[in-house]
Amino acid sequence: MLKVNAVPALSDNYIWIVSTGDSARVAVVDPGEAAPVVDYLAEHGLEIAAYLITHHHGDHVGGLASLLADHPAPVYGPAAEADKIGNIDHRVAGGDRFTLDFLGATFEVIDVPGHTLGHIAYDTDGVLLAGDALFRAGCGRVFEGTHDQMQQSLARLRALPDNTRVYGGHEYTQKNLAFATTVEPDNAAIGAAIADVDALRAGGRPSLPGTLAEEKRINPFLRWDDDNVRAAASRHAGRELDDPGEIFGVLRDWKDAN
Ligand code: ZN
Ligand code: FE
Repeated sequence: MLKVNAVPALSDNYIWIVSTGDSARVAVVDPGEAAPVVDYLAEHGLEIAAYLITHHHGDHVGGLASLLADHPAPVYGPAAEADKIGNIDHRVAGGDRFTLDFLGATFEVIDVPGHTLGHIAYDTDGVLLAGDALFRAGCGRVFEGTHDQMQQSLARLRALPDNTRVYGGHEYTQKNLAFATTVEPDNAAIGAAIADVDALRAGGRPSLPGTLAEEKRINPFLRWDDDNVRAAASRHAGRELDDPGEIFGVLRDWKDAN
């Protein structure tokens, strides 16, 4: 099983370091900043053998050019945003697969437009590198795509196996859970997640990853077809909602206004 470690960066980003645990060669996911990665490598005696990029936002790629100068390695990134990002050696898109031999792992690329239009996620060996598409108990804001697009992207991620560990790009979980409980005050799984996450954060530990099994129980943005979530979104909208994209959109706007 792959090991995935968090390097906290900027105010609330995580740069994920993927390794086998018994080799010094690692993949670095979404390096929004260089310095914390350099420190982490030095502290643990690691070397970068690949970079994986999910989307073009600065808090995910801001450290890439400077890391490449001292730690050259192949860069995988979204084909549709490669020109914007620069330094992408392998332009990948949904349905593509590639193998990183140093990890003994094959990655499947999933298109998840919505937060940005070219946003991709990487899935391998029960590990989902989700960028700003899916967080624990939440999802990214819809900046470039439509609500329908984002809902369809999340449906694609929701179809992955329940035991998938979800590594999103931000520590937003406590705020996400506060919103989740606003939508579903009677959902006991959300209460349990709040206790779990509060304990992790009090201990200075990341609340990520979540599992897809848990996400399906607590994340309102994956629960458009749950009766309680649909009813809550309908009450909020002031009319009966049925369409998944519309339910998602009402929830997204509701959270953005919170
Ligand atoms: Zn972003
Ligand atoms: Fe971000």
